[in-house]
Amino acid sequence: MLDPDYLEQAGDLVGAVYSEIEAEMVAYLVDAMLKGDVSEWRAQWALRSFSQWDAARLRAIVQRHKNDVSRAVLLEVEDAMRRSDEADLAAIKAALGVELPSITSQEVASVVRTVTEMLERDNVAMTMGATQAFYRESTWAVTQVGTGAMSTAEAMRRATRQLARQGIDVIQYKDPTTGDLTAKSKADVAVRRHVRSQLSQACATRSLQLCDESGCGFVEVSSHVGARPSHQDWEGQCYSLHGEVTVDGKTYADFWDATGYNGVSGDHAALGDRLCGVNCRHQFGPWAPGMPHAFHPRPRHPSGKSSEEVYKLTQRQRALERAVRDSKREYQAARKAYELQRTPESLRDAAKAKSLMQSRQQRLLDHISENSDVLTRDVQREWAGDMPKTRLGS
Ligand SMILES: [Zn+2]
Repeated sequence: MLDPDYLEQAGDLVGAVYSEIEAEMVAYLVDAMLKGDVSEWRAQWALRSFSQWDAARLRAIVQRHKNDVSRAVLLEVEDAMRRSDEADLAAIKAALGVELPSITSQEVASVVRTVTEMLERDNVAMTMGATQAFYRESTWAVTQVGTGAMSTAEAMRRATRQLARQGIDVIQYKDPTTGDLTAKSKADVAVRRHVRSQLSQACATRSLQLCDESGCGFVEVSSHVGARPSHQDWEGQCYSLHGEVTVDGKTYADFWDATGYNGVSGDHAALGDRLCGVNCRHQFGPWAPGMPHAFHPRPRHPSGKSSEEVYKLTQRQRALERAVRDSKREYQAARKAYELQRTPESLRDAAKAKSLMQSRQQRLLDHISENSDVLTRDVQREWAGDMPKTRLGS
């Protein structure tokens, strides 16, 4: 079992590398647009000419970060699987006096492979998203110039800043975590979510395997502040893995039925309602009647703030972090436009983008310090093209 705070951070390391990949892709597209002569362009021409060489160049950017991605995946998977395993093995020993061997390197490697394969699909989807962003903005710029709405220089400056601000979407025909068809989400957000849910599922599968091997018939489900209402119905309780059962006068509900874990039975089988479903931070681990409880239903936050307040503050932090990343890319695009064409207008744009970035960084810091009883800063989530070179301890 992984605790909810741990799962909240899971995927951040891989996500940070993808924020860098996204920033580089954006920088590349911005450069291609700024160096292209839009007055000569027609929308169709832009589409055709770009598609001949774009995919290869975009793939090369992903390729350059391959080692960083592999290292981040290995660190995250290894740490999560071993941590979860240690907690489960200790619980089994305490509950049943049974000692089982730890998870093997091969088993960890198999999870690493699964995560890597998923990221390879994300890479393809990201390349598609980047190509679409280029088409969208260059078509927009061509139209502005064509209709006389603005000068070529202004159209290009605006289009590239729009592209940089919006970043790159991952476009998928079937999102592996939400099951949505043609899902579109921001690249780093999608990657974080995918890694987190793969880790959650891999640990859950391993926990069930250990219960099976040790003959442990009960599990405890974790709980956290700010859980979704449908998850509050089943969080922080202990369940029987083999149908409802009464021990020493206490009745334990059936795990599968109560939590919807397998997605088949009970009132919580829907993907958003079930244990270990989309964006779920709950987990479960071996337990036995008589053992102490590590979790309780609907826990209170130490700050005394309500679940809803904590949830809102955290969501606000996430939104501000995203805004910081967006404005960093936007500033880079504006600076590039100024470097290529040093005019008063491009200088003004770059200065504006810089002050926007700084004010967003300040707003995020203020939000965190004003709510320091709940929030802590997570710099990894603020990187976009400015990740320190000493990243990942290499
Ligand atoms: Zn949950």
